[in-house]
Amino acid sequence: MTSTALLRTEQLTRSYGSLLAVDRVSLTVNEGELRSIIGPNGAGKTTLFRLISGEVAPTGGRIWFRGHDVTGLAQHTVSRLGIAKSYQITNVFPHLSVLENVRVAAQGYGRSFNFWSRTDALTDARARAAALLETMGLTGKAALLAAHLSHGEKRHLELAIALAAEPVLLLLDEPTAGMSPEETDETMVLIRELAAGRTIVLVEHKMKVVMKISDRITVLHQGQVLADGTPEEIRANDVVQRTYLGAKQ
Ligand code: ATP
Repeated sequence: MTSTALLRTEQLTRSYGSLLAVDRVSLTVNEGELRSIIGPNGAGKTTLFRLISGEVAPTGGRIWFRGHDVTGLAQHTVSRLGIAKSYQITNVFPHLSVLENVRVAAQGYGRSFNFWSRTDALTDARARAAALLETMGLTGKAALLAAHLSHGEKRHLELAIALAAEPVLLLLDEPTAGMSPEETDETMVLIRELAAGRTIVLVEHKMKVVMKISDRITVLHQGQVLADGTPEEIRANDVVQRTYLGAKQ
């Protein structure tokens, strides 16, 4: 089987003054892949995500998505092209119901949105929102105010909101942060299910999660790619062991 590159960065760089937060990062994520980005605090993981999503402009290098050069495009343009990001900082509206939170997101992005038929568009967004809540196991909570969800449920709602944009590439920033071991396990299963239909790039600190669900892992260290490989290759990599994994286990 030949694999198709969905996302490619070439020598991608972002400096803040004299600090190189992301330093000449070249990576390729293939269609359908679940890629994890790991590395110690300050390694540049979040900045790399912000570059890919168009939130921050690079100071060097290029980004290609689906064969198009998307370097320096605004975040809303990148999002329209099919990249969605689920934030570490919550983007849930606490005073809207769970269903409304997803419906509002679905309405803004539905591919079938028809300018002339507002009623159809609203019904469509509502149906898509309900389907997404079902995928996330939140159907029973649809009518609740989002403020009343548990932490884990809120993270799942954030995922539903990100999926409402029907992304081709989903960027997940620490999806299991702050979760109990049980919630973490549930979320891992969910992410694997989501990965069946799309490409996912994940920043995650929990090694158990990363090693279990990733197809490939990229290790960042001081803004640079330290290693790139399958979970087995990364686990067996001496340099990674010395500089990162050794300290974590
Ligand atoms: P963590 O795991 O702690 O979230 P990270 O790997 O995501 O870390 P980044 O947040 O990308 O790392 O930060 C990489 C480096 O860039 C750090 O030294 C950080 O202080 C610096 N940095 C990030 N954003 C900015 C900014 N807006 N202004 C100045 N420095 C920044």
